[in-house]
Amino acid sequence: APLIGVLALQGDVREHLAALRAAGAEPVTVRRPAELAAVDGLVVPGGESTTMATLADRFGLLEPLRTAVRGGLPAYGSCAGMILLADRVLDAPAGQRTVGGLDVVVRRNAFGRQVDSFETEVEVEGVAGGPVHAVFIRAPWVEEVGPDVEVLGRVVGGPADGKIVAVRQGRLVATSFHPELTGDSRVHAMFVELVRAARARDLGEDGVGVGA
Ligand code: GLN
Repeated sequence: APLIGVLALQGDVREHLAALRAAGAEPVTVRRPAELAAVDGLVVPGGESTTMATLADRFGLLEPLRTAVRGGLPAYGSCAGMILLADRVLDAPAGQRTVGGLDVVVRRNAFGRQVDSFETEVEVEGVAGGPVHAVFIRAPWVEEVGPDVEVLGRVVGGPADGKIVAVRQGRLVATSFHPELTGDSRVHAMFVELVRAARARDLGEDGVGVGA
């Protein structure tokens, strides 16, 4: 099984570990550069993006995270994790830093006070078997996507109708919502498959490393 790390500085780490296990991965927590170097893929959990970035910096992980993601490490971010994987963030505190890699503009806390937290069904491209129950908690949405970014899901209906809430660019996936809170591991399973495919590709068919 692929070894998938969950960035464990802050946020809903436990729920992601459980969802990854249910999706057939071997999950581990990542707090140090050596732990990051060992994983085949990484989940950046939900939580608070500013706090997570500050802690990553303090733990000496921010630069290693940037280097790893740019070097082709598959990563999946939910909610705050989406913010951390985004290249550009609106409504962030001055000086907010991210890991980046996803060519998107996200708006933090985008859904506004009235719909601070809400739940709805979202069809996610690449996830078979019907819509995903999407839980949004002070969630960001994606306001702009670059040319290489695939939109995987949008809100349908309500005040946020049409807003982009799931995206993929190569080995990076992000959702505004928290599939880890629902007991449905299909989004994690999609990511685990992506990690398997990336690993097979990096190893080459003969199992000898040939680079990304
Ligand atoms: N509002 C949080 C942030 O900006 C994200 C909330 C979440 O992850 N549930 O980081």
